[in-house]
Amino acid sequence: MTQQTADFETVRDWDNGNFVHPWEGMAGIGRNDRTFTEGGEGIYVSTQTGERLIDGPAGMWCVQIGYGNTEIAEAMAQQARELAYFSPFNNANSTSARLAHEIAKRTPGDLNHVFFTTGGSTAVDSALRFIQFRNNVLGLPEKKIVISRQKAYHGSTYLAASMSGKERDQGWLDQASHLTHFLPNVNPYVRAEGQSIEAFLDEKVADLENAILQTGADKVAAFIAEPILCSGGVIVPPAGYHKRCLEVCRRHDVLYISDEVVTGFGRMGHWFASEEVFDIVPDIITCAKGMTSGYVPMGACIISDRLIAEVSGDKSRDATFSNGFTYSGHPVSAAAALKNIEIIEREGILEHVRDVTPHFEARLGALADLPLVGDARGKGLLGCVECVADASADDVLALDKTVGAMIDAHCQENGLILRPIINMCVFSPPLIISESQIDQMFDILEYGIRKTT
Ligand code: PLP
Repeated sequence: MTQQTADFETVRDWDNGNFVHPWEGMAGIGRNDRTFTEGGEGIYVSTQTGERLIDGPAGMWCVQIGYGNTEIAEAMAQQARELAYFSPFNNANSTSARLAHEIAKRTPGDLNHVFFTTGGSTAVDSALRFIQFRNNVLGLPEKKIVISRQKAYHGSTYLAASMSGKERDQGWLDQASHLTHFLPNVNPYVRAEGQSIEAFLDEKVADLENAILQTGADKVAAFIAEPILCSGGVIVPPAGYHKRCLEVCRRHDVLYISDEVVTGFGRMGHWFASEEVFDIVPDIITCAKGMTSGYVPMGACIISDRLIAEVSGDKSRDATFSNGFTYSGHPVSAAAALKNIEIIEREGILEHVRDVTPHFEARLGALADLPLVGDARGKGLLGCVECVADASADDVLALDKTVGAMIDAHCQENGLILRPIINMCVFSPPLIISESQIDQMFDILEYGIRKTT
């Protein structure tokens, strides 16, 4: 049974009149024309107006196992019947404890301490607060600045948003700018003409080291990086970037937070991308989204044993990490996450992602030949097409800023929903997508781009 009890026009009025959406454009509030999704099955969502669309972005990079999975719904219902909730302050429950243990078994290195949160922003916030806490306990109160990067997105709580380097989002809200330093764009696509990829890599690693040296290593607490900058336009840094950045961090006692809110839980064919794909074991991993395949909110900040040891026992100075949420480790979310892990494992979804990725990347790469496309990039089941007015001149400025939305509209007419971001369209389909469905998706996308040209 669906919750819907009204006709389309009524629902649209409720939405326009009462629902303030994320990133609400205030010029259009109250009269927006949105896609109203109503149901879902596998990689498809259906709309209130009767269309059935391939979900290109998997909701918001999160519906790993696809829609309509009754097993996960049943696991949540059963947990809700048994124990929907109890306070995680001073109490424990078997479902959340088991989830912490199952996650720890799948993380790299000694990342064995799981701090549960309500989503990705609170996971990043908690990671940043934990590092502040650690440095206060260690008697390093000046070591607080966090280095982030242009085009990064780390969330919408005040501290996480302060680490987010998307220029467009910085204009209308304040940031804790005394705590941050942003490095220039790491996108190889925008490197100087004639610069080799190796030279670009050297430059980007040097950017980090110079920022630490100029700020003073005694003042820099951490470097935060998405393995791939997702909301910034699926920016894949040059090979070796993360490993070399970690070496820089280690040289200067700067901690490394790998923000795997998108890349975690299978998106790159592994539980986490940090070690398996990028060959690093960071100090903290943050995750959310795919953790429950989006069936219910949950996130986590996973802390290394080393960091915990530094601030615990005799060294703790009786300090309390005064950070946490009513819903930390919520049992219903934990039940969903445990079932999600079980399904991903039982159905061989990580292997499946690794199997279909070459085909996905080949179809993606071929889009670069289209006249409107300046760059078609991605890795794992993450993709982005970046449009330019004149591909030969990479003339992005002359382009209509709504080109991404235009492509999305043409694709939706033909059965594919995308996530448009100005002159880009990004997509990250449910991980269960088959090779023929990948073809279907790229056929429609190609049509949408050609129609927009
Ligand atoms: N970190 C990254 C890399 C993200 O992409 C996002 C959301 O897209 C977040 C953090 C914030 O997650 P949430 O929206 O669950 O708070």
